[in-house]
Amino acid sequence: MEDRFGHLISYLRISVTDRCNERCGYCMPSELQEWLSRDEVMSYEEILRVTEIGARLGVRKVRITGGEPLTRRDIVPFCERLCRVAGIDDVGISTNGTLLAKVQPDGRTTAAALVDAGVRSANISLDTLDRETYRAATGRDYFDRALAGIDAALEAGFEKVKLNAVLMRNSSEEQLSGLVNFAHQRGLLLRFIELMPVSTSDVLTERNFLPVAEALRLLQAEFGAFEPRPDFKTNGPASYYAVPGRGQLVGFIGAMTNFHFCDSCNKLRLTCDGKLRPCLGSHLEFDLLAEIRRGADDEQIAAFFRHVVERKPREHEFRDNYQPGRQMVAIGG
Ligand code: SAM
Ligand code: SF4
Repeated sequence: MEDRFGHLISYLRISVTDRCNERCGYCMPSELQEWLSRDEVMSYEEILRVTEIGARLGVRKVRITGGEPLTRRDIVPFCERLCRVAGIDDVGISTNGTLLAKVQPDGRTTAAALVDAGVRSANISLDTLDRETYRAATGRDYFDRALAGIDAALEAGFEKVKLNAVLMRNSSEEQLSGLVNFAHQRGLLLRFIELMPVSTSDVLTERNFLPVAEALRLLQAEFGAFEPRPDFKTNGPASYYAVPGRGQLVGFIGAMTNFHFCDSCNKLRLTCDGKLRPCLGSHLEFDLLAEIRRGADDEQIAAFFRHVVERKPREHEFRDNYQPGRQMVAIGG
């Protein structure tokens, strides 16, 4: 599927839940959140049907996210079925990692069970290596669990394990080099992500925002000049740089400051309540689940997909005094 601006859509990011076992301030409002009822959330059957139709239209890669996807019951058997959908050749998961080391009834870690199910990559969020900062940022004292999850992911043998760290001024600066060293020691691909206005508006302020260029400058002051590696591409919008003398690559995801950020966008998002969103940074969303539940056939759902792709904006609206409508946890990061 191609949109009006030449974006080729091959990537569907699917949120399977709005629930989470953590409370990151930049993602979820601190006041008690009302969860969606079970009925409002897409069933696994419904998600699989949408994925099958998406695959017929050219979707090749799917990433499972949330909320915290590993809090949803039977996520492993669901992933197994998702990995078998004809045409889908890459399934990944985004997780805070805290449940990856959890042992399944059959004795495998959740990470190992996901690998056996066919999940190829795990993107794990870790913003800090300091236990107290972790607790303050996530609202939970799960630092050890997150580290155990990273180890479990490495042991399980995912093809790729990436670390994602969101940049927050007056907090991340001290964490940058530690995270780079941590990723190097474990052979993880680390990416730093600029804060985006997808949470309550009080979080995304000038006071909290740390641009990727500044993070890069701080790192270069410590490690020496990083070499840009425009030749290195994953399936996302990160710009990669090589750390001198190490062969380590580090990614920078500058959604706010990189004006070419949207040029190569290949994504659609499906929220856990079945809204198809053409862009994270736009309020446009289309109620696919309502179509499904009113009995739409596969051809009608395919037409719905194409309609959403046609409405995909040229670029996100985050720079235009964007007011968040939904929290990240409710969209799916
Ligand atoms: N719970 C999982 C996790 O934390 O990885 C998956 C969902 S989470 C919404 C996906 C990613 O979005 C995480 O890497 C998280 O750090 C990032 N994220 C959440 N809120 C964000 C914000 N306001 N700006 C930038 N990234 C954000
Ligand atoms: Fe939960 Fe992930 Fe959002 Fe943190 S970033 S609150 S772990 S969904």
